Amino acid sequence: MFGKAKDPVCGMKVTEKTAAATSEHMGRVHYFCSTSCKEKFEKNPTKYMKMEERKGGCCG
Ligand SMILES: [Zn+2]
Repeated sequence: MFGKAKDPVCGMKVTEKTAAATSEHMGRVHYFCSTSCKEKFEKNPTKYMKMEERKGGCCG
């Protein structure tokens, strides 16, 4: 159950241990399939965070 994450940029499933790149944003760690996805995310994190927010829960 643990160790799986979704690349917020391309939507690919990644395993936390084998993720090519990680980035922390607003207290959450995001995992990426490649460094290019990480770069895209860091250029415009809010664009990709919007998709995550829809899952429910919110910042406090
Ligand atoms: Zn990706």
